[in-house]
Amino acid sequence: MPKYAFFKGSFVPIENAKVSIMTHAFNYGTGCFEGIRAYWNADENQLFVFRLLEHFQRLHRSCKILHIRLPYSPEELSDLLVELLRREGYREDCYIRPIAYKADEIIGVRLHNLTDEFAMFATPFGRYIEGELGARVIISPWRRVDDNAIPARAKITGSYINSALSKTAAAMAGCDEAIVLTHDGHVSEGSAENLFLVRNGKLITPPVTDDILEGITRETVMEIALAEFGLETEVRHVDRSELYTVDEAFFCGTGVQIEPIVEIDHRIIGDGAMGPITQKVYDLYFDIVRGKVAKYRHWCTPVYR
Ligand code: PMP
Repeated sequence: MPKYAFFKGSFVPIENAKVSIMTHAFNYGTGCFEGIRAYWNADENQLFVFRLLEHFQRLHRSCKILHIRLPYSPEELSDLLVELLRREGYREDCYIRPIAYKADEIIGVRLHNLTDEFAMFATPFGRYIEGELGARVIISPWRRVDDNAIPARAKITGSYINSALSKTAAAMAGCDEAIVLTHDGHVSEGSAENLFLVRNGKLITPPVTDDILEGITRETVMEIALAEFGLETEVRHVDRSELYTVDEAFFCGTGVQIEPIVEIDHRIIGDGAMGPITQKVYDLYFDIVRGKVAKYRHWCTPVYR
């Protein structure tokens, strides 16, 4: 359990970081957030936060869309996060949740003329998908939020109802996750993770115009796959039936990390286990996030002095 939170401008005991049931964001979903991971490196006695600045830059973009004014720059938010982790003193992998939200205790649906607040907590965290490695997946019976309804490019609290509907539909169908289609029927992403396919030794991922969250792990995978394995990524529309026929597929995201997909809509993907290209990306990713690859060490912010 976390001991502290950053709340209303200072670090407070977590039990004091409370909001009213009248809070705007609680009633209307008017907030945006980030999910950031920090990885424990036992050899170096160090906790490394992965791509910290990029997460806070995205938070700023989400806030812009929601008319939230953040009183801290991405650099200042990064310093606050490091300070929070130092106070917690975690010596294990953890997950950090910053959230910017409309804090007024009033009735009235809007984004303007409201008070913005920022809060953050950090908690120990393991894998996102439980059980054996390798996700069994359905196509969600729900469509992805549309850019002209609730923009998926912003990480908006309220839009996670869309993710929750898909995730629960998958669980109730006896599966681990759902892949969600756009309103016009193209493959978008998982309920809370981006998607990569492998076909003929090439990576494929849907474009940012297909209502995905512009994932930081997605960018990371494209960059390291090209630089380290010479693997190019085709960024293009994907149809549902193409999913059934690919050689390999995997989810990526801060929460899910790299998770092979072994079954989609009761069709076995590849030979039903993690494929060789997914394995290469998987191994490299976990070395990078723990600060073990010098070339990518600039992505890893050390917490302890
Ligand atoms: N899509 C959705 C809907 C998500 O919630 C997440 C998790 N933040 C991702 C993709 C992956 O994004 P990232 O790699 O930046 O964590």
